[in-house]
Amino acid sequence: MKKLLALTLALLFTVAAFAGCADKPASNSDAPVAQYKGQYDVLKMGTNAAFPPYEYKDGSNFVGIDVEIADAIAKELGATLEIVDMEFDSIITAVEQGEVSFGMAGMTVTDERKEQVDFSASYATGVQSVIVAENSEIATLDDLSGKKIGVQLGTTGDIYSCDDFGEENVTKFAKGADAVLALKGGDVDAVIIDNEPAKSFVAANEGLKILDTDYAIEDYAIAIKKGNTDLLDDINAALEKLTADGTVDNIIAKYIKAE
Ligand code: GLN
Repeated sequence: MKKLLALTLALLFTVAAFAGCADKPASNSDAPVAQYKGQYDVLKMGTNAAFPPYEYKDGSNFVGIDVEIADAIAKELGATLEIVDMEFDSIITAVEQGEVSFGMAGMTVTDERKEQVDFSASYATGVQSVIVAENSEIATLDDLSGKKIGVQLGTTGDIYSCDDFGEENVTKFAKGADAVLALKGGDVDAVIIDNEPAKSFVAANEGLKILDTDYAIEDYAIAIKKGNTDLLDDINAALEKLTADGTVDNIIAKYIKAE
């Protein structure tokens, strides 16, 4: 009985201690919370900041959904976030070689990529969309056969287009925006890219539209070097907390207005 009382008291003290902690304002300089496995000073995020609304530049600042979620994760882990901007196609290698702590770039989880890196829990859904000129005769996915398709190099849009419509029909660009420029100039007949960047590009360029078709539905997640399980677990735990307390939803709602 005494033991039970002691246990109950111990539990009460623990709860009180945690409640006390929760009042502290979060800041990057806060020491990492004990529940995390690693100690982090700086976390480097490898990304391609040409993919609105997930990551892009506003003047010289990096902004977007991924940037803000990564910043919230870093804060939660007591670290400062550093952004390393690179071609999308280089991100997985940079993660594998430890040049960055993680890759976050509206990156779709695929079986091939899973052989190279580990993925966190998914924090968002992406849909591959088709952009065409407003007056295009292309109305369905079937109409794409034999047409010239523009994609961003190394993306799932690139991989699926080559598989389904033949590599000879696919032109690969370093940036999605360059593929869209080629579409405007008539060098390609369609661009296959994730739906939210597609909406941004169509809003920023006259005379384009998105076909009413979901080419592929995908999960976005954070890529972490294989074997770096402490960081993987810590990012997942931080993500879980930031999802539960509404932070992730608030960030997404800030950039993607409900339709
Ligand atoms: N979701 C796509 C992929 O992972 C595109 C990502 C991107 O271009 N940033 O391949």
